[in-house]
Order: sequence, then structure tokens, then C-alpha cells
Amino acid sequence: MQKKYLFSPGPTPVPSDALLAMAAPVFHHRTPEFEALFAKVRDNLKVVFKTEQEVLTLACSGTGAMEAAVTNILSAGDKALVVVGGKFGQRWGDICRAYGIEVIEIEVEWGTAVDLTEIASCLEREKGIKAVFTTYSETSTGVKTDLKGIAEIVDVYEDVLLVTDAITALGVMELPMDEWGIDVIVTGSQKALMLPPGLAFIALSQKAWDRVEGSGSRRFYFDLRKEKKAQLKNQTAFTPAVSLIVGLDRSLNRLVSEGMDNVVARHARLARATRSAVQALGLKLLAPDSPSDALTAVLAPEGIEAGRIISLMNKKHGITVAGGQDHLKGKIFRISHMGFMDNFDIAVVISALELTLKELGFSLSLGSGLKAAQEELFSNR
Ligand SMILES: *Cc1c(COP(=O)(O)O)cnc(C)c1O
Repeated sequence: MQKKYLFSPGPTPVPSDALLAMAAPVFHHRTPEFEALFAKVRDNLKVVFKTEQEVLTLACSGTGAMEAAVTNILSAGDKALVVVGGKFGQRWGDICRAYGIEVIEIEVEWGTAVDLTEIASCLEREKGIKAVFTTYSETSTGVKTDLKGIAEIVDVYEDVLLVTDAITALGVMELPMDEWGIDVIVTGSQKALMLPPGLAFIALSQKAWDRVEGSGSRRFYFDLRKEKKAQLKNQTAFTPAVSLIVGLDRSLNRLVSEGMDNVVARHARLARATRSAVQALGLKLLAPDSPSDALTAVLAPEGIEAGRIISLMNKKHGITVAGGQDHLKGKIFRISHMGFMDNFDIAVVISALELTLKELGFSLSLGSGLKAAQEELFSNR
């Protein structure tokens, strides 16, 4: 027998209460039963997003919500600033270009966070920017962006909306939408929300809604005006992913009863332990200066291709971690610690990593990473 463990940064493990709830027979959505469920979900989504605004639930993967953000606040010919420090920053640029939006990119070295002065000077220099697109947790590199700092800069520009991809940040790191003044937040179900893939979420500030109402851009399935109107009445514009929403209710209950500040503290602890463990093993972090608490990107040791580590961990130990993308392929592996994760999950993945590295000829003393992890996990900080 071999037990399987998922440590990839999406999809992530789904708790069994949610799995069981989703296995129940599908019921019709134009019913009081669905409306009662969706009313609860809507309330809890606001708690998780820390906003008074409506959080819309969409039936698509996270990228669908990213596309909805672009098409609802911008029109062809508009100008946008996009921060690109990895695959997901690139995706913002790709979506914007697909809709004829003029993209100004700030290129950030993969593994580092954007320098805020670059954003400030770009907004100062380039007239007519209508939105700034950011990635709070850049999953391809494991970098955390200083979103609060960016929000302070963007705040003074009345015509600029701040949009963030929080797909591996919401439910992981601090993100008080209203307090920080973030205009658009998008996330997806299969990361920190502990669900299968298939749902995405988007919340907009009043300033962003004013833009949406006045925009003449083309949109149909992702017309957020239509969705908001329906969802305020506990319905959706089109057939909702009913079973996933049943599961969502369970995972939101879990988050809300833990408390968002405790959720954030737990992820910070698991992240610290993981970073400390891999460094104790003599490995280097890709993003030592500004790491995301959702996942840890680790450079493979000299002479060992990252793919060999990933594949051996999977075949021999049943553990899934992710590799690198583009020029980081073969060079890094990524361990997720977001979502349905607790202290002993970290012990499992570090223990398997030690064994794997040893099997591949890397010199280490078994238990040294685990010890470092335990010291972080069980200290009373
Ligand atoms: C996973 C992820 C996405 C993409 O979401 P899909 O659900 O695959 O469409 C976008 N941005 C970030 C930061 C992600 O981690």
C-alpha cells in the first residue's frame, strides 16, 4: 500500500466533510433550498474576503475570473500596467492583449518582488493608465508581492483601479480588501479554499463597480452586472456548479470557524517551518527575501535535476510536489503548504524530501530538516 499526499500548489487536498457533502445527490438550483445555501455562502465569502462588497461566485477556473476582471473594467484601447514576475503575471498581460488593451509591463526578475518605486514612477510617467494588475502570491516563483504598499501608491490616482490575482493568497496571507483599498480581487476554489477545481470568485470595490457599470466593453458569460443582479437574490445568472457550492459551504464554515487571523497565522507557521527545514538541509530558496506563505520554491542542489526529485518523491513515497515552469523547469521544485494543511503535513513532506535527496546521492543527515521544522512548528511563537 502507498498513501497519496498532495503538496502541489493547486489542486490541494480537500477535507473529507466537503468531499462527502459533494457526493450527495444533485438538487435543482432554482429552489429555496439552493437559495438558503447560497445566502450562507455569500455571507461567509464576505468574511473571508474581509469586505462589505458582494463576492461573486463563477463556474470556471481561476483564469475565468481573471478574464472577467479584465473585460468588465477595461475596453479595447485602454492602457494597463501589469507587474510580471512569473507565469501568472504574464497571464494578466496575455489576457489584456487578447482584448486589445495596451499593456505596459514592469518586468521583475523571477524569484524577487516588484520594487514599489518602479510602480510609482511608471504611474507618474505614463498618463492614462486605467488599471494596475498584480499577483499577490506568484505561484510560479513562490514570491509574495507587497500588495499593501502598492495599494498605498495606487490610492492617490482617482482613475486607476488596483486588481490582484489572490488565487494562492486569499485564505493564506493577510488580505483585508476594504481596509487596504483593493479594487478587484480574484481567487479560485482549488487552492486555499480546499475544494476541487471549478469555481472562481471575484469581488469589486465601489470604485470598480462604477467602472463596470459605465464600461462599453464586450462581455457575455462573464458580464458581472448580470451576475451581481442574480447573486444579490441568491441565484446565479446561469446554472451554478451546485455540488461545488455545497462543498464550498463546508470549506467556508471551516475557515470562518477557525477565524481568518488564525488561518493566516497557521499558514505563516507552516511556511516558516518549511523554509527553515529546506535551508537546514543545505538547500536554497528561490525567493528568500519575499516568500509567499502559500508555497516554498526550492532550488534543486547542484548536479541533481529537480525533475528527478519530484518523480522519486512521487513514485517511491506517494508525494506530489510541483516543478518549475519555463526557464525554472528542472531547476526548482515547489512544495505547497496552503489550504487543508497542518503541522504534521510538513513533517511528512520534509521527511520524504530528506529520504529522496539521500537516495539521489545528496549528502545530508536524516532528521536535520525535520528537526528544524519541528522547532518552528511547535515553538510557542
Ligand atoms: C492556479 C493559479 C492561477 C490559475 O488558475 P486556474 O484555476 O488554473 O485557471 C492563476 N493565478 C495564480 C497565482 C495561481 O496560483
